[in-house]
Amino acid sequence: MVEVGDMLVGYATDEDIRSRGASGGLVTAVLAAALEKGLVENVVVMKHINEFEAVPIITDDVKEVLASIGSLHSVPVNLAKYAVGRKVAMPAKPCDAQAVIEQAKRGMIDLDNTYIVGLNCGGSMHPVTTKKMLVEMYDIDPEDVVGEDIKKGKLVFKTKNGEEKALRIDELEEAGFGRRESCRFCTLKIPLNADLACGNWGVIGDLSGSATFCQVMNGKGVKLLENAIKAGRIEVQPASDKAIAIREKVNNVMVDLGNTLEKKILPVIPDEERLQYYIDQLADCVNCGACKEVCPVCACGEDSKCTTFHSLVDNYKMSMYHMVRMLHLADSCISCGQCSDVCPSDIPITLLKSRFAIPSQRKRNYHPGIDLDTPPFFEVMLK
Ligand SMILES: Cc1cc2nc3c(=O)[nH]c(=O)nc-3n(C[C@H](O)[C@H](O)[C@H](O)COP(=O)(O)OP(=O)(O)OC[C@H]3O[C@@H](n4cnc5c(N)ncnc54)[C@H](O)[C@@H]3O)c2cc1C
Repeated sequence: MVEVGDMLVGYATDEDIRSRGASGGLVTAVLAAALEKGLVENVVVMKHINEFEAVPIITDDVKEVLASIGSLHSVPVNLAKYAVGRKVAMPAKPCDAQAVIEQAKRGMIDLDNTYIVGLNCGGSMHPVTTKKMLVEMYDIDPEDVVGEDIKKGKLVFKTKNGEEKALRIDELEEAGFGRRESCRFCTLKIPLNADLACGNWGVIGDLSGSATFCQVMNGKGVKLLENAIKAGRIEVQPASDKAIAIREKVNNVMVDLGNTLEKKILPVIPDEERLQYYIDQLADCVNCGACKEVCPVCACGEDSKCTTFHSLVDNYKMSMYHMVRMLHLADSCISCGQCSDVCPSDIPITLLKSRFAIPSQRKRNYHPGIDLDTPPFFEVMLK
């Protein structure tokens, strides 16, 4: 029997799924079982295009779930909006899970119908940066890459001629490559805000590389695992004290690093310089609206107030667009980085919004038992 709070190590019983999985295929097997046994009507997963590109799909086909197996570190897309209005199970980085919660607070997602299989996340990379990094730092043609992994602080690429090349992630980041900026100062690496928190940290000994460490966060997590065990799709065993301690130790190192980098990436700007700072940063805005379109916590839709302020010619209106967006995001920006990723003018929008966001929100300091009865901050303010 599975219980809330359990720390388990598990894997897919099917050898093919287990060997193709990022670390034992438990996540894929749990998602497949949720669909097969009717726990959900759909599953959101990544449809792979290549090592750097994938598109999220909503499927009721178990074959598509099984094909989506593996972790794509250069696909930073946020999955939350794919869960809107559906009875669904989904894999989720901590920022995906947090965006699901933000959508739920705004009544767009019913958390009772949304099963979130959380993935630990040390950070993701922008695909364009990864390709450039392969050429400049690894001397590898991106077309030749057949696999990618993270081992002991190094980013490893495998090529079709069977070679492996590894470079230290901190050195890559010093050279301007590696993880996206928002991932560097993120401090929620284990998705305690999901129903299950799965990852390879703490998988040791013989199981290393072929099993997933899985923390059961709530009743939905229990249901997901019990359903998959009953379906014969997974096997689990209690994690040893040593495994639990190692996982915690690695997490602490990553969280400390996030806190240190936050001070570098988001230095305090003196009050008297702030207005000019925002004016300068936003000067290159071309009014495309992509930042709002891609924002995984925006629930306003087509008729939103900020859209009415869009203008190619009126600077006053554009200032209002950014002001409304900033007010909206002050209580909900999760610093996922999607807006910076898509900005055609390379404006560091996430950093601008993050400065305004209330710190606990930015740090995604959410834990089980989220109080959905508390309305978002600005809904209270505007009453
Ligand atoms: C960007 C990223 C960074 C990670 N960093 C760490 C880490 O630092 N430490 C750690 O312990 N674990 C990390 N993980 C989790 C780890 O790689 C495995 O996903 C986890 O151990 C589960 O393994 P599995 O074999 O059960 O997963 P699988 O059965 O292989 O299933 C993986 C699932 O993840 C989905 N997926 C793949 N790529 C993404 C993506 N970019 N965004 C959202 N969903 C995706 C797939 O669709 C699939 O459903 C990371 C995962 C990702 C995606």
